[in-house]
Amino acid sequence: MSAETTPRPDAVGDLVCSAKGCRETAAWGLLWNNPRLHTPERRKVWLACDEHRTSLSEFLELRGFLRDVVPVAELDRADEQVEGAGA
Ligand SMILES: [Zn+2]
Repeated sequence: MSAETTPRPDAVGDLVCSAKGCRETAAWGLLWNNPRLHTPERRKVWLACDEHRTSLSEFLELRGFLRDVVPVAELDRADEQVEGAGA
């Protein structure tokens, strides 16, 4: 029997880049897992704009945590809020 599990990415809220100090709209979701902290099917999600996709994914890859990079459109949203709010 296979022990394979279906990855379950965390839902994301506002689509803002996770890079420190960056306020750009995220275009990518970096799916990662730290085997010492997370169950195998768990996927933590970092959001990244085009500019930070490479640096953030390299950070995770160096630690062996990076599992996948997907367009934000494929991620579950924590809220079904109407975009464009937040005056
Ligand atoms: Zn960014």
